[in-house]
Amino acid sequence: MKLTALGGLTPLTNWSPHLPTTSGKNNKPVVISTWNHGIPANEEAWNILSRKGTALDAVEAGVRIPEADPEVRTVGYGGYPDRDGFVTLDACIMDEKEQCGSVAALQHIKHPISVARKVIEESPHVMLVGEGALQFALDQGFEKENLLTEASRKDWEEWKEDADYQPEINIENHDTIGMLALDSHGNLSGACTTSGAAWKMHGRVGDSPLIGAGLFVDNEVGAAAATGLGEEVIRTCGSHLVVENMRRGDDPETACKKAVQRIVEKNESVNNIQVGFIAVNKQGQFGGYSIQQGFNFAVCESDNNRLIDAPSWVS
Ligand code: ASP
Repeated sequence: MKLTALGGLTPLTNWSPHLPTTSGKNNKPVVISTWNHGIPANEEAWNILSRKGTALDAVEAGVRIPEADPEVRTVGYGGYPDRDGFVTLDACIMDEKEQCGSVAALQHIKHPISVARKVIEESPHVMLVGEGALQFALDQGFEKENLLTEASRKDWEEWKEDADYQPEINIENHDTIGMLALDSHGNLSGACTTSGAAWKMHGRVGDSPLIGAGLFVDNEVGAAAATGLGEEVIRTCGSHLVVENMRRGDDPETACKKAVQRIVEKNESVNNIQVGFIAVNKQGQFGGYSIQQGFNFAVCESDNNRLIDAPSWVS
């Protein structure tokens, strides 16, 4: 994926994976997000944060960038379909008051993250799924669209020739965007959005729309988000675990590492499992950690937006 340099900001990509990924204290605003597509997403979020906007507005606006980008084949429009050819999207959002909204297995709506926010604002619930989520979105004025691009349709047709599903996610066939922000008012919010595992069973929901698994925010402590094999993240309540590790005093990178360790310990082998976590704490320190090499995340603070290679369990 091509990186987008930030207008006026300095993109850096040469961080060593083994430098500590935590910056100094009282670092705000700051925004971090998963994978290469975090760079343009951070740029959008930074436009809001740098003008003293809220973390909630920033994370929603930020993740809408990959959601709308057909080149990003793992989020929103242009995302890979399930094995039956349906693009089904999962997303959640959580703010500093621990208000959260989520949609799962949502079809035909380009911006599931904005529907998730509407779940907070316009419904008495936290989570809507499938047809009900679609109906809610349409009632809220979202437009029904075809999200299956020609490129993704072709890849699906090719996949169907063997229909060989490898539930083990490698680092190429996923790439949720999870984004966490600390705004200049000192408040935290997070967003997570994905088309989920390529060629998944119809109806499969991963970790990304599940509060506590794909995303968790506690404004007293910090926020975390996950990417990778959702089933493993769900089993360990991964993002909640990261935040609880920070509550017990871990810096963000260590908190992520311990959550990775939990997954490693629960599996006989992690050869075919990739999970990555990112975290930011109330002081604006941040970090990430993954099982396998190859996970990176984008950080934007003060005047630069850069990619950081996360340290990994397997080296
Ligand atoms: N966690 C997502 C899922 O399992 C996949 C990913 O991060 O790419 O649906």
